[in-house]
Amino acid sequence: MKGEKKKKIVKTIKIDVDKCNGCRACEVVCSAFHASPKYSSNNPARSRIRVIRDPLRDVYVPVCAGEYAVAECAGRDKYTIDGKEYDECAFCRASCPSRQEFKEPDSGLPLKCDMCEGEDEPLCVQWCLVDALTYEEREEEVEETEEQEELEIGLEALASKYGLQKIMETVARLSKKE
Ligand code: SF4
Ligand code: SF4
Repeated sequence: MKGEKKKKIVKTIKIDVDKCNGCRACEVVCSAFHASPKYSSNNPARSRIRVIRDPLRDVYVPVCAGEYAVAECAGRDKYTIDGKEYDECAFCRASCPSRQEFKEPDSGLPLKCDMCEGEDEPLCVQWCLVDALTYEEREEEVEETEEQEELEIGLEALASKYGLQKIMETVARLSKKE
C-alpha cells in the first residue's frame, strides 16, 4: 500500500581515502561518544568506524558500520589496491555472522553508525583534521511507510539472531548506565 510522501534528510559521510593518514582519531572519538556514560572510556573495538591500515603501502581505508546482516552474503568482493589483494569482506560495512567486525565486544550485539544522533556534525568528521571525512546532508522525498518497514525488518532480524530477551537485557543495562 502506498503511503504519503514525506521529506527525509539523507546524511552522507564522504570518505577521501587519499587524504586519510591512518591516525585513528575517528575510531577513538566514535567509541568515546558511544560509551555509557558518554566519553567515560574509549575503545576502538567498540567504534562504528574502523580504519583498514596498511602503513607500508600508505593505504588507509575508513569504513563506517552499516546494517546488520542476518546471514552472510552469497557472493564476495575482492579488492586489490596498489598491488595488494585484500581479504574478502575487508571493506564490507555489514555486521555479519561470518566475521567479528562491528560487534559490541561484551554483548556481541551489532554496531551500526547512527551518524552521532543529536550532534550537528558527526564526531568522526569533526575529529578528522585532514578532511578525509566530510559531511553532507540532502533532502529526499520518500513514501511514509518505507522507514517503518525498514525498522520492523531490522528488529525482526536482530531478535531472531540474538533472541528478544538478550536484546532487552542489553538495552536495560545500557540505559541504567546513562
Ligand atoms: S581521523 Fe581521518 S585521517 Fe585519521 S584515521 Fe580517521 S579518517 Fe583517517
Ligand atoms: S558518524 Fe558518529 S557513529 Fe558514525 S562512525 Fe562517525 S563517530 Fe561513529
